[in-house]
Amino acid sequence: MQLSFHGADRDVTGSCHLLECAGQRLLIDCGMFQGSRELDEENSAPLGFEAAALDFVLLTHAHLDHCGRLPLLVKRGFRGEIISTAATAELAQIVMQDAAHMAEDDAASRARHNPAHAASIQPLYTRADATAAAARFGRKAGYTERLTLAPGLVVSFHDAGHILGSASVLVEVTEGGRQRRVLFSGDIGGAGRPILNDAAPPPADIVLMETTYGDRDHRTPAESIAELISVIQATAARGGNVVIPSFALERSQEILYCLRAAIASGALPAQLPVYVDSPMAISAIEVYRRHPECYDAEAAALIARGNDLFGFAGLRLVRDTAASMALNQITHGAVIMAGSGMCTGGRVRHHLIHNLPRANASIVFVGYASQGTPARRIIDGAPSVKLFGEDVPVRAQVHTINGFSAHADQRELLGWHARAGGRERTILVHGEPPAMQAFAALLTDVPVSMPEANAVLQL
Ligand code: ZN
Repeated sequence: MQLSFHGADRDVTGSCHLLECAGQRLLIDCGMFQGSRELDEENSAPLGFEAAALDFVLLTHAHLDHCGRLPLLVKRGFRGEIISTAATAELAQIVMQDAAHMAEDDAASRARHNPAHAASIQPLYTRADATAAAARFGRKAGYTERLTLAPGLVVSFHDAGHILGSASVLVEVTEGGRQRRVLFSGDIGGAGRPILNDAAPPPADIVLMETTYGDRDHRTPAESIAELISVIQATAARGGNVVIPSFALERSQEILYCLRAAIASGALPAQLPVYVDSPMAISAIEVYRRHPECYDAEAAALIARGNDLFGFAGLRLVRDTAASMALNQITHGAVIMAGSGMCTGGRVRHHLIHNLPRANASIVFVGYASQGTPARRIIDGAPSVKLFGEDVPVRAQVHTINGFSAHADQRELLGWHARAGGRERTILVHGEPPAMQAFAALLTDVPVSMPEANAVLQL
């Protein structure tokens, strides 16, 4: 059995791991590298393995940094089966189409600015490639259901509590009469998250796990909701808007779910105007509504009583561009959620241009921001940021509420690892080096490794 590393190794994006066992080649995730311009080259570079020689892709969840290079994989010859949960398959289609759209737009704009080389400027992949990738999705795995892929090779998906449909993938391999269990964590959600159940890892001999927040603890979801409510109240009192740069998947739905509850309880005004300015987030809300099998008991009970998980009087879902631009006229009292979460693209940049210079506005970051992104610069206190080539002064109040993170914190990662075991070997991935090292130092009773990109392990 051989495991090789092709993304998210000593880094947090581009998740991609290749397991060769029982005569099969399984890729676990094929994500996009995200963060800065230089990463464009990393995305278009050779994959590090033969796409056509793969038999299966096991997709843990639909975030771009886990599914974003699937269209490229198919473009480069992959003809095997992609297996995921049903909710992940639906969300991944939305994410891949959106990424293809952005890649096409980006290539067109680069060609306009560089007419002499226009013919040689190609998008990473096209919407047609994303459609071809969607067609490779085959079996839909229910949580804990065991699927036999080949003699001596069984896989199962286990709730990771991270976003709708997210899973850790267990590969059970029998070779030479010896059975071993290899667990790929995917991204692990923290305990007590709205809508979703907590992560439920099965025991395994070899564990490969994420360590995004391996060096710190978050505030709890309840503290974070209270903090968000008080920021909304204070900003309304100052006469400004609240802008929430928000990932379209999971974070937007989770915030809406919390706002609905706060309005229902009277903590926020019944008519609070909330704009979801993201076609992708709106499409994802529809997928969330179609998959109640992924809900926790509280969300299931709300549905059973006839509630809409994401609906309230002041909510406006903004799909078209003209309506999005009209939001620029609103100077106070509104809550505007738009992507992207790291402010590297999407409609949120327009809302930042209008609201960052206003001292009475609030910008609330509710997710992870990589080094080099506008979000990170704003969080780190930059006096101005460049958006669309324009220097925009930062006068608004900047808040970071990290308890909305869809990732488990150090304490929760330790709890997850204790249940998963990993006594033969524990492999840490998907973290920046300081987070990984801090977490590795806590795992004193198992052999731990932190492979570099392109490493190959014989297991
Ligand atoms: Zn994720």
